[in-house]
Amino acid sequence: MTPVQQSQVLVCPHCKRKTALPPRNREGKSPNQHYWPTGNVALNLLCNVCRNLSVHSQGMVRPALVESEGLGAPPSVFVRITFGCDQDNCGLPFSLHIRTEAQTTEDELTTWGRSAIATTACSAGHPLGQNSTVISIVRIQ
Ligand SMILES: [Zn+2]
Ligand SMILES: [Zn+2]
Repeated sequence: MTPVQQSQVLVCPHCKRKTALPPRNREGKSPNQHYWPTGNVALNLLCNVCRNLSVHSQGMVRPALVESEGLGAPPSVFVRITFGCDQDNCGLPFSLHIRTEAQTTEDELTTWGRSAIATTACSAGHPLGQNSTVISIVRIQ
């Protein structure tokens, strides 16, 4: 039997894979509190399995049992990648999140992120593409 633990998860609308959000215990909140990008209504999630990008709201977060790390599951990390729109000196940031293996390199994350955002646009409506600059790659947990 695989060890499991209760987590707050988002479900990929394409392949139904669950992605656990990191707990927000650093801020002294209850264990049911989970990470959410500060000041954002939406969280863009890049699925680690089907590589589709999906948009989630906090109302879509739900509790679920997931395989417990350190008890058999490979270590993973929840990463936020922020790109900057490169069109017309726009520079608007676009962030996406992925849970992936801990040893994934920043080059791999950049490549996955760039191909995922090719289907979307910045909030000024410019299509985001292969030339978007990486502003930051943050390993949240
Ligand atoms: Zn998926
Ligand atoms: Zn733009």
